[in-house]
Amino acid sequence: MTRPVSRPFHPDTLMVRGGLDRTAFQETSEALFLNSGYVYDAAEAAEAAFDGSVERYVYSRFRNPTLSVFEERMTALEGGCVARATASGMAAVTAALLCQVRAGDRVVVGRELFGSCSWVAEELLPRYGVEVEVVAAADEAGWTRALARPTRAVLLETPSNPALRLTDLHAVAALAHAAGATVIVDNAVASPVVQRPLEHGADVVVHSATKWIDGQGRCLGGVIVCGMAFDEEHLGPFLRHTGACLSPFNAWVFLKGLETLGLRMARHAATALTLARVAEAHPAVAAVWYPGLDSHPQRALAVRQMRSGGGLMALDFKGGQEAAYRFLNALQLIDISNNLGDAKSLACHPATTTHQRLDPADKAAQGITPGLVRLSVGLEDPEDLTWDLEAALDAARD
Ligand SMILES: *Cc1c(COP(=O)(O)O)cnc(C)c1O
Repeated sequence: MTRPVSRPFHPDTLMVRGGLDRTAFQETSEALFLNSGYVYDAAEAAEAAFDGSVERYVYSRFRNPTLSVFEERMTALEGGCVARATASGMAAVTAALLCQVRAGDRVVVGRELFGSCSWVAEELLPRYGVEVEVVAAADEAGWTRALARPTRAVLLETPSNPALRLTDLHAVAALAHAAGATVIVDNAVASPVVQRPLEHGADVVVHSATKWIDGQGRCLGGVIVCGMAFDEEHLGPFLRHTGACLSPFNAWVFLKGLETLGLRMARHAATALTLARVAEAHPAVAAVWYPGLDSHPQRALAVRQMRSGGGLMALDFKGGQEAAYRFLNALQLIDISNNLGDAKSLACHPATTTHQRLDPADKAAQGITPGLVRLSVGLEDPEDLTWDLEAALDAARD
């Protein structure tokens, strides 16, 4: 039972209480419904649940009360109408695309996509007769050209992982809508605290909840936030019948994560800005890519569509891969890890790990140089992180 809402609450309140639906026991924290099925008082009640005359939980692949709280909280945070939780970020991206496309359709995607998202777009979709065109994030003429023809969907990631390139959401959404396309934005790098793509023209937002939403490296999960019509016509039936559903346990962990997301993202972003400035001033570094820095080439766009720079940055070392490796191997506090969005600070070398499979031309086009190191800034004391960063930067210069 939820008490009547008397005002539109701020995001920090919604992160703690959005979707809260207490049982008759009046528990404080969200209940965990770790059940697959449901029972009925009578055969007629089961029939009514299946013919749609009564709305209720029937099977946890379709709906589950713990998932519903998580979905309502994400809906409120992104400013959408409906959300659907999925087993991983990749399940969310794949479902958002596959639920709507059919053979003969055309899809336009950003070049700067998470590796598996590129695979789904460029390898999987064409197998089913879908034509896919790729456009670089900042290539305005490229978006205009690609979206001059009828298009079913656009998938883009801003800011991008790992090189922190931005795509102008308003501009691409206007072109995409004129082409008849649904705009899907992967918001995993920013989090709903830093960026709300639906406010900037996107139709569908996808997340890897594995990252900042969990925030403590525990569970895999994803979520799709969209409008009512998209859910009814495309997404709802697709997920119900294909089964990419999230475990209620993971949804419960994400609910606990969301309660502190606002606090955490403020700290991640403040520390990231401090570290970005330290790195930028160091002679071993050719460039720092962080949307919160004035030197970011798309800084004006970052100010328009992001509330802060977020917790992710990339450092490009003058000495190439050798310097990047010297830096990584000199770190004493920050861990080497291909993951991101954790309380622990994590660093990785995308060219030889997460993006190893890309051919050299693709790497270059995405800004994934041999000297690039991605840093996911954690919640440790900023002075300790600065100490670790400075020593490793010195080691990179040798
Ligand atoms: C991690 C990530 C994904 C995939 O999410 P999983 O939860 O690992 O499946 C998709 N997009 C971006 C931008 C990511 O960082």
